[in-house]
Amino acid sequence: MWAVQQIGGEIHISPLEDLRPHDHSPRCWCCPIEDSQYPDVWTHNSLDGRERYESGARELS
Ligand SMILES: [Zn+2]
Repeated sequence: MWAVQQIGGEIHISPLEDLRPHDHSPRCWCCPIEDSQYPDVWTHNSLDGRERYESGARELS
């Protein structure tokens, strides 16, 4: 599960119930990545690595 929250002029997409709480800030500990198409949209990186499952990077070959 991912949370999408608008904070001021920024959108933060962050993992819910991650192992460590996220700051809704570009300076979060997880080094969030700004979307290349949509400025001020920040995707946070989960500590438990769930995005690697969701992107299919861990699919068996
Ligand atoms: Zn974060």
